[in-house]
Amino acid sequence: MKNLDGEYISRVLRFSSDNRLVQGLADRIFRCSECANLYTANDLHTEDGELYEGRGQLWACNSRLCPTCTGRLAKRNRRIARYVFDFEKIYVGENWYFLTFTMPDLSLKDLPLLTCRSVINEAWRKFSRSKFFKEVCRGGFKNEEFTVGDYGQYHYHIHSLAICRSRIQSNNFQEIRYHWTKALEFSFQKHGIQFECNTSDGLAVCNVQKVWNQNRSINELCKYITKTTDWAKIPPEQLADIATIKRFPRMFEVFGVCKETAKQMRPEPKETPDTDTYLDTKKITDENSVDSMDAIEAEKISDNGETEKSDAPKKKKPTWRELCRILPREKWLEHLEQEISKVQDYRRRQLREKFAFASFRTLDGEIF
Ligand SMILES: [Zn+2]
Repeated sequence: MKNLDGEYISRVLRFSSDNRLVQGLADRIFRCSECANLYTANDLHTEDGELYEGRGQLWACNSRLCPTCTGRLAKRNRRIARYVFDFEKIYVGENWYFLTFTMPDLSLKDLPLLTCRSVINEAWRKFSRSKFFKEVCRGGFKNEEFTVGDYGQYHYHIHSLAICRSRIQSNNFQEIRYHWTKALEFSFQKHGIQFECNTSDGLAVCNVQKVWNQNRSINELCKYITKTTDWAKIPPEQLADIATIKRFPRMFEVFGVCKETAKQMRPEPKETPDTDTYLDTKKITDENSVDSMDAIEAEKISDNGETEKSDAPKKKKPTWRELCRILPREKWLEHLEQEISKVQDYRRRQLREKFAFASFRTLDGEIF
């Protein structure tokens, strides 16, 4: 029952490069997906006695390549999208639309994935600020997705769930396609890449659909790449590049009026009925999503201990990225083990305190 995808991607990373950072990341993803790190909970209940079940991670590596962590991210984004969907006002002449913006396929051989992503995002920035888009759309969400074809070509596209006027469908979608193509051309040029679109009319493909099924659209929007088969198709050196990026850019965005609505989201267990486990288990899942913060908190304790000993100016504690590069492998693994068990102990204690009547069980059978 462990996260086999996590084990797989960490193995792919391990063989992809000798780079110590990549190796370190592989170690972290491996540990994140271990049975001992994943738990399920029984008998959790809200203040009004509603029962629900939960699951989560004790420690999180927070890597964009980690299936366990991106799964959690997708859940969080779905929750935001559902909330906004329920509370945002829709005026006469408007509807929620599911939009897909594609770009001409690029080959992995010619262009690294990260460049490709930069190209489409620059185009999105240009497009979403255009007069046309502002006139037809008040707000929504945006997410990115890519798949890799058998010949190393990738299909990178942007999904958007947005409140639009029906004008978005005007001219049989020619208008939106025209403006999106203009934005793509701008971005291609800025990146020094020739723009070639092999559709019959030379315009990039946009898909526009009225939303009929809210849940399906939200699930489609919040999909993250977790398919290991796609990662496996990416050339190893590029995978290493992706792995070593310090801050992977935000892929999911809330824009326009929806941004304000999303900010108001403070789900109180009482206000949110039992229909959504993740709303109710927010306390648990969300704490997981700030696991790194807890890790930092936990680290601070030892940090203070160290700094108190000397009057030297406070040194910043080295990050895992630095440590896996400077420490001999054995020492690094030892450090990782310590850090993980410290955070896991803290999390176990915290969960027990918060949910005194619940029982927790890790996937390798440990009950706490
Ligand atoms: Zn992880």
